[in-house]
Amino acid sequence: MPLATCPRCKKIFEKTRVLVCGKCQDDENADYDKIRSILERNPNLNAEQAAEEAEVPVQCVTRMMQEGLISNVVLSGSVKCGRCGAPAISLSKKLCQGCLEKLNAEVASAQSKIKLSQKKNVQVSEYLHARKAFEDKKR
Ligand SMILES: [Zn+2]
Ligand SMILES: [Zn+2]
Repeated sequence: MPLATCPRCKKIFEKTRVLVCGKCQDDENADYDKIRSILERNPNLNAEQAAEEAEVPVQCVTRMMQEGLISNVVLSGSVKCGRCGAPAISLSKKLCQGCLEKLNAEVASAQSKIKLSQKKNVQVSEYLHARKAFEDKKR
């Protein structure tokens, strides 16, 4: 069982499916309910706004977000794109929509370039091979 530090009271506890230690579980659940009900009313709040409305630390909101307990939080304000500073849509990659698409396009073009150069090498060697066979026949 992996050990974890309780994000609420910093106590070491065995991390199972819960995020906090047994002592803080009730508080965590209460905060979760608060955040949930806030988000049900205002699904477009970002993490900071939701935390403010629910009167919980923003880390509490992001923690639940990372664990997938709450998913409809708009990430703007809490996580910024590492490339252009716009609000990020991907918490793990820290990228905004535009940069995520750009990155995907860059990866795709880099991959196709690799494929292309591999193909070229094959064609050249095939050509040399064919030419050698041709010259062998001539002799
Ligand atoms: Zn605790
Ligand atoms: Zn960006």
